[in-house]
Amino acid sequence: LAARLQGFGTTVFAEMSALAVATGSINLGQGFPDYPGPPAVLDTARAAIGTPADQYPPGPGIPELRAAIAEHVQRFGGHAYDPADEVLVTAGATEAVAAALLAFLEPGDEVVLFEPMYDSYAAGIAMAGGVARPVPLRPPADGAGRWTFDPEELRAAVTPRSRLLLLNTPHNPTGKVFTRPELATLSALAMEHELLVLADEVYEHLVFSGARHASIATLPGMRERTLVVSSAGKTFNVTGWKIGWICGPAPLVSAVRTAKQFLTYVNGGPLQPAVAAGLRMADDYFTGIARDLEYRRDVLVQGLTDAGLPVICPEATYFATADVRPVQPDGDGLAFCRTLPTRAGLVAIPSGVFYDPAHAHLGRHLVRFAFCKSDDVLGEAVERLRRLA
Ligand code: PMP
Ligand code: GLN
Repeated sequence: LAARLQGFGTTVFAEMSALAVATGSINLGQGFPDYPGPPAVLDTARAAIGTPADQYPPGPGIPELRAAIAEHVQRFGGHAYDPADEVLVTAGATEAVAAALLAFLEPGDEVVLFEPMYDSYAAGIAMAGGVARPVPLRPPADGAGRWTFDPEELRAAVTPRSRLLLLNTPHNPTGKVFTRPELATLSALAMEHELLVLADEVYEHLVFSGARHASIATLPGMRERTLVVSSAGKTFNVTGWKIGWICGPAPLVSAVRTAKQFLTYVNGGPLQPAVAAGLRMADDYFTGIARDLEYRRDVLVQGLTDAGLPVICPEATYFATADVRPVQPDGDGLAFCRTLPTRAGLVAIPSGVFYDPAHAHLGRHLVRFAFCKSDDVLGEAVERLRRLA
């Protein structure tokens, strides 16, 4: 394994999903729904298979999907991007992020980002020869509060080598939604230091009562320096399809396309018209998935609370974070997750893996549980949580 990939090993999602299968546990680890996507999306994909849509689509994505992405972004409060050269279809949000890092980082360039962080970021930065400069998000003192960051710590992470700010909101694994004042702090910093901003917004529609998603691209002066990433996986319950996209000003998107061309060239021919159909669905589909998931959040948060685990209630996403110290006296979230299949027939993700190894102590006692599961499965999971008491 090349030096730049030392330490990355196997992703925790693969390890924990394999553990769930091997032990017959309910998998509340890797974030994927166990219920199907909307018929309009699934039926369109089925109809496209066996047609010319099976062959290589155009490099930037089929025109119909790029147009649907641009319309959708604008409908939900984003900018008017030109489908011709400001929208690029990618192999999931993961490729969009990786291709952008490869497109913009010179060896040694630094990326400012918050931790805990989605696991592909550190590897993507390393593969591009960059250096991650993580800024900690601090959990609330009690479960009712929000995760916050210290603007001074943020400022201290910026150096003359800083090239890019990588912002994930709504945020995995914390479930935090960055507020407009928080985004204003970030955009002021980006403008002052001429940073590009890569905004991963894959959970844009999975936002619960009281919180509101805003894209940093829409803050004054930010359009020209921001690339916005999203994906069909979470919005249409098709995490295995890996259809994502990235939108931004043409020169930036063109640079990302150069990298994407030689990673995968193109992807998901027959899935592209299906995602276009999904993006064109009426508003009530998008509000409906948020309401539905909020109900599932409440079920899991109550179950964890009843089992004696303090929970940081998420404002968005698929995930709730619990403090395992009451049921794991050494406070080791990784040890807790390794024994959870035998203790309770469940699998979850230790939040420590979402930190730079040097700061993993900050999340050592925290564990992430996914609640994007059907009623029966979630009900059974809550039942099993009682075994921890
Ligand atoms: N970013 C974040 C924050 C995620 O949680 C995920 C989860 N899968 C991804 C990117 C990857 O998205 P995709 O499957 O579309 O590559
Ligand atoms: N985004 C999902 C999660 O955080 C899936 C990640 C993955 O499998 N790479 O669990």
